[in-house]
Amino acid sequence: MIPRSHPRYESLKTREKLEKGVEIGITSLNGLIAHGRGKAFDYLLGEKTHSFAQHAISASSAMLLLAKHPVISVNGNTSALVPKELVVLSNILDAPLEVNLFHPSEERLKRIKEVLMQQGAQRVLLPNKKYRISYIASNRKYINPNGIFKADVVLVPLEDGDRTEALIKNGKKVIAIDLNPLSRTAQHATVTIVDNVVRSISHLIKTVKKYKKLDTAQLRRIIEQFDNKKNLKNALKHIHQNLT
Ligand code: ATP
Repeated sequence: MIPRSHPRYESLKTREKLEKGVEIGITSLNGLIAHGRGKAFDYLLGEKTHSFAQHAISASSAMLLLAKHPVISVNGNTSALVPKELVVLSNILDAPLEVNLFHPSEERLKRIKEVLMQQGAQRVLLPNKKYRISYIASNRKYINPNGIFKADVVLVPLEDGDRTEALIKNGKKVIAIDLNPLSRTAQHATVTIVDNVVRSISHLIKTVKKYKKLDTAQLRRIIEQFDNKKNLKNALKHIHQNLT
């Protein structure tokens, strides 16, 4: 039990969630390494949600609301860290959750689905080997016909670069949440939220709820005003300032 007064309470709590994820068979050991990589960047960012992340959250919310078939991609880390929030977002957007794993096993796919259903998910899709995206060799190419196959916008919290690039080449718009502004995912996504998924997902939910009241023209304007390259530069500038 981590005492609330511990100065690293939030960080340790997150670590504990991932350990539990491994224990119950939803998170892979590789996911722990990816978490460590993210954590290092979170230190460099001062462990808070910056204005550049807020801008990206605004553009992402508008994009998700304008999408015809938005899909939320789920992996072993996000299902351990923010399962409830993913379900809330899926329900308010009426967007399915689609499980996609780098190290897949039937058992792990099933367990992740169970965890999401327990949190009240209405639609959890699993990959179907009859459907695939091009430009990717790994098992992550398999997709669901009612999910990523027909999606125009895919939210990929914590992603590896290969798949982001492949999704883009397959004509999808990709919204990434990635603490590393230099990762291939961050660099190739249509919109990159440089922030910890644990913090940013609740901001995303709040903004989507708020923007539901806006009309199409207003949502389009928010997207037009957003420049992902410029926003990534701001994130890097901030890291540079923190280091110096
Ligand atoms: P790429 O292939 O995109 O260059 P990578 O090989 O590091 O990057 P992964 O191993 O899949 O890709 O790592 C996932 C990414 O998720 C990393 O960039 C890491 O910084 C980021 N990350 C890890 N934990 C979190 C978190 N809690 N919130 C946001 N991003 C995270």
